[in-house]
Amino acid sequence: MNNIKLSSISHTLITPLKQTNSVKDALNSMKENSISSVIIVDDADLPIGIFTERDAITIIANEQKNSLYLSDVMSKDVFYLKEDSYIHDAYTLMEQKGFRHIIVVDENNRYIGVVSEGDFLRHMGFEELPATKSIKDAMIDSILTINLNTSLTEVALRMSKKKCDYAIIVEHNQPIGVIGERDIAHCSIDGNLSLENAMSIMKHQTMCLVNIETSLQDVSQMMKEHGVHQLVVVNNTNALIGLITRHDILKTIHSSYFDYLLKTIESKSEKEQTLIKHKKELKKIANCDSLTNLPNRLFFKRELKKLVTQSIKNQQISAVLMLDLDRFKDINDSYGHSIGDEILSIISSRLVDIVKVDDLVARLGGDEFAIILEDVDSKDEIVKITNNILLAISKACKLSNGIDIHIASSIGIVLVPDDAKNVEEIFQYADSALYQAKSDGRGIYSFYTDEMTKKAMQKIAYESELRQAITNNELELYYQPQVYMKTGKIVSCEALLRWDNHKFGRVTPDIFIPIAEDTGLINSIGEWVINEACTQGKIWVDKGYHLTIAVNVSPNQVRYQNLPLVISEALKKSGYSASRLEVEITESSLMQREEEVVEMLHSLRAKGIRLAIDDFGTGYSSLSYLKRFPIDVLKIDKSFIDDIPYEKDDMAIVVAIIEMGKALGFEVLAEGTEHKEQLDFLEERGCNLYQGYIKSKPLPAKEFEKLLEEQNF
Ligand code: C2E
Ligand code: MG
Ligand code: MG
Repeated sequence: MNNIKLSSISHTLITPLKQTNSVKDALNSMKENSISSVIIVDDADLPIGIFTERDAITIIANEQKNSLYLSDVMSKDVFYLKEDSYIHDAYTLMEQKGFRHIIVVDENNRYIGVVSEGDFLRHMGFEELPATKSIKDAMIDSILTINLNTSLTEVALRMSKKKCDYAIIVEHNQPIGVIGERDIAHCSIDGNLSLENAMSIMKHQTMCLVNIETSLQDVSQMMKEHGVHQLVVVNNTNALIGLITRHDILKTIHSSYFDYLLKTIESKSEKEQTLIKHKKELKKIANCDSLTNLPNRLFFKRELKKLVTQSIKNQQISAVLMLDLDRFKDINDSYGHSIGDEILSIISSRLVDIVKVDDLVARLGGDEFAIILEDVDSKDEIVKITNNILLAISKACKLSNGIDIHIASSIGIVLVPDDAKNVEEIFQYADSALYQAKSDGRGIYSFYTDEMTKKAMQKIAYESELRQAITNNELELYYQPQVYMKTGKIVSCEALLRWDNHKFGRVTPDIFIPIAEDTGLINSIGEWVINEACTQGKIWVDKGYHLTIAVNVSPNQVRYQNLPLVISEALKKSGYSASRLEVEITESSLMQREEEVVEMLHSLRAKGIRLAIDDFGTGYSSLSYLKRFPIDVLKIDKSFIDDIPYEKDDMAIVVAIIEMGKALGFEVLAEGTEHKEQLDFLEERGCNLYQGYIKSKPLPAKEFEKLLEEQNF
């Protein structure tokens, strides 16, 4: 049964109408063919509108004329599917979208026929259903009652206001008839809108009463026998309590339909192979969103359950991202559902492309998507992926009708198991994080916890301030002396960046340098640093202080900036000498794109520029690479100096670095020297230079100059 194609249940013999046909033409066609809608097509037979009994009721309620053109009153929001769609998929889609008719089209989207809700009812085979559901599960109790004095216009008005398909006519509190959209539509053809006329047309129809305790199975049987689409529901004393229609039955049954089919298939001892095939297909329908082919909410929930257990057991952190397209409803409203669907498909494939193969992307419904990032290393990784997602979504969607649409999204993030330890919590917290993101301006993400939200937001805030730092004159270089061990004299200094922001005050390099790195801002900032250091160096040379200035260069600059060019220009502009400039890079910079870095460093060396390896000992030091790079200074990382003279291992490492440096012909500098004991140890072991608070903290240029004056250069 689940293999039945849409084409086999559609009405194909009914001629569609054109925009220039009138409402009356539509009503006549509906009456002649006993159908509840007519389709309007263009000259190429492509469906462009639908006119239903419900639309007819609106026209009557508004007292509009039957001579109106269909183009003025039809609904342009048409829902069409290809003829080879399965009826179960088709029904599920129709129900999700709230339509009552499906236009069936061929592979070129040309009109073939139409399928209404009633057609599904006849073909979905629910007469086989167990008789467990009763009227109570399906019935509508908000019924519309009218009496014989009511005019049809009034009935139509009340029906369309209350969104009822039927009105029950009562006399002395007893139901005496049921009038439906179809009856009113038929009456309106010849313009006689009295209820009496309607009653006379309906004469042939019997009003059927049914007891509230009846099973749905019997209800559908009764409808079939009496040829009606609705039954009036009464209690044991025959008092009116409601109405049950085909639509209600269908809706109720459908939710249990997949369960039922699975059970039926299992119980039947059919051939093993077909059984498995059916099960798979059903499972797919039940777990898969038919528009995007992504897993649906049901499947996603099940995966979340597994995720929670697994994350707790393996002590790993995963992130659940809840994503919602901003103002998607507006797009749907202004461009129609088929454009909306096209956008959803584009977005879903972008999402799938961005995440890792093992990560799960699901469509929860409407414009809501969810993503599981399993076993993430850090918050930063999550932020990075999330930013990529926001960026990917914000790119223009090129639609088949030639329009470019821009859409943004908001994302709520929950960490499992840190924030949430069960499925309900995940949904709840992700929702509130999503809400936060939306209320913070849309197009952004928000972590669930306050603290995380704050930090992530702070990063964004820093970033936007950092973008202005140079133009706002907020950057300054401080200088920290580097002292030659043997003479105790300052021979060089390290330029260290300081940022005083008008909003945040002083922000330390540990915070803003990584942000500048992440965002690529480091390139312009780094260029500023090199220029500033050279300018200052020249000022000091002119005053007779011939010292070397070391500038820090970040991995990002090494990789993406033309450093030799930037430095040459800075030297040229300032008139500072290349041999007095030292570039500090970390081991990690050397490890990436090694060949290119070797070449670049040699070209710096060729200009006479010195090279220092910063934070030495914390990266992947290997003798072989030390030999390949034109290094002048090894700067032993502060962490090894800190515990001199107490930590034997650290002391052994320091000694080894000094020995190795000497053997390879490098100078060795000890970073972060604070105490006399450290200094004594370093001197004794033959370390050439030191830098640290024992001599001075980093100072603004003017104050640093005083140290130079005192030293009597
Ligand atoms: P770094 O290059 O290793 O710089 C040395 C850091 O150690 C500086 O921190 C300095 O103030 C600190 N320091 C020096 N002597 C002592 C001491 O005796 N005790 C203690 N406790 N600390 C000492 P700062 O200025 O906060 O800079 C931190 C890091 O930020 C630098 O580490 C460097 O990696 C980065 N940085 C600073 N300026 C720049 C820059 O212009 N460009 C780039 N790319 N990175 C920079
Ligand atoms: Mg440094
Ligand atoms: Mg360092």
